[in-house]
Amino acid sequence: MNMPAKNSVWVWAEQYQKLNAVSLALVGKAVELGQQLGGAEVSAVLAGAGAAGLAKELIDCGASKVFVAEDVSMFDTEGCASLMTGLVRTHRPEIVLWGATSLGRETAARVAARLGTGLTAHCIDLHIAKIDGQDHLVMSVAGWGGNLLLKIVCPERKPQMATVKPGIFQPPPRQPRHGEVIPVEAASGPARYEILAATEEPEEATSLERAAVVVAGGWGLNDLAGFALVEELAKVMNGSVAGTRPAVDAGWIPANRMVGQSGKTVAPRFLVTLGVSGAPQFATGALNAGFILAIDKNPAAPIFEMADLGIVGDLREVLPRLIEELRK
Ligand SMILES: Cc1cc2nc3c(=O)[nH]c(=O)nc-3n(C[C@H](O)[C@H](O)[C@H](O)COP(=O)(O)OP(=O)(O)OC[C@H]3O[C@@H](n4cnc5c(N)ncnc54)[C@H](O)[C@@H]3O)c2cc1C
Repeated sequence: MNMPAKNSVWVWAEQYQKLNAVSLALVGKAVELGQQLGGAEVSAVLAGAGAAGLAKELIDCGASKVFVAEDVSMFDTEGCASLMTGLVRTHRPEIVLWGATSLGRETAARVAARLGTGLTAHCIDLHIAKIDGQDHLVMSVAGWGGNLLLKIVCPERKPQMATVKPGIFQPPPRQPRHGEVIPVEAASGPARYEILAATEEPEEATSLERAAVVVAGGWGLNDLAGFALVEELAKVMNGSVAGTRPAVDAGWIPANRMVGQSGKTVAPRFLVTLGVSGAPQFATGALNAGFILAIDKNPAAPIFEMADLGIVGDLREVLPRLIEELRK
């Protein structure tokens, strides 16, 4: 899409009975970007049954307008894409932000293709910068296998669009505000598929991003029996278990527990890594961790560069003793 854009920043908001934290965080980020653009208005688009009742929370986070389509299911990404494509064509926002959730990623990609604009996926930072006298959204991603931080702009096509993984930005404080709730209708006919049921993931599988304590195990745990010690330590510390890609690939831990570029972004107050080398693709998912304790037998492992406290040693010796001491 190449039409002149109006000065507004939009967020595709997701909900399933309650608003997704990444959508609230993106509204907060949109407000910041709007200020950097010299006062651009922030709008959110919300679909699904019961959406109207959730609009006020988006307004209290900083949205001036919330477009609500109650007759479009959040799970109908085709219907959501038609809705959003129509709204963007009509209102021409400068920027559109999406949570990099499975639904958000699918919907955003469809909308980008229909509008003929770019979409930068899995951003870890967003800001406005002047380039050749024009304001541009600078979208930072971990690129080239995670070894470099790439800054991407979309100078020719509009809107500028980015997805951001949950946990990268925090939801802003709510303040009672006034805003406009605008009902809108589905932009397409009946979907080519039928949604029979929606099943929520058990809380245990979704709580990693919000956990205050995370214990992450890597390839250095050696085998499933070794990985059981990670679970034991997490239990003693009242924390959540996570793992690296090799730990997931070996079947020691489910894929929804993977931290990193292709996994979850965690922001615990306390992160313990066990036999994790600290590859950039893992580290990207733990940049917002508070205190990091790393245990690894290789003193040159990159994980020690990001750790606040490091123990160089063999996990088979260190871990049982650590668990024993903590139990006491
Ligand atoms: C496009 C792409 C995306 C990726 N996305 C992700 C991602 O999201 N998340 C992710 O984790 N990875 C991801 N990876 C893989 C990533 O590059 C690394 O290979 C991975 O993070 C390494 O995992 P690890 O630290 O468990 O294993 P290793 O790098 O093999 O490290 C094992 C560590 O254990 C230590 N160790 C071994 N034995 C012991 C012992 N007995 N006691 C103490 N320490 C011991 C070693 O010294 C070493 O530091 C991705 C890769 C690519 C190319």
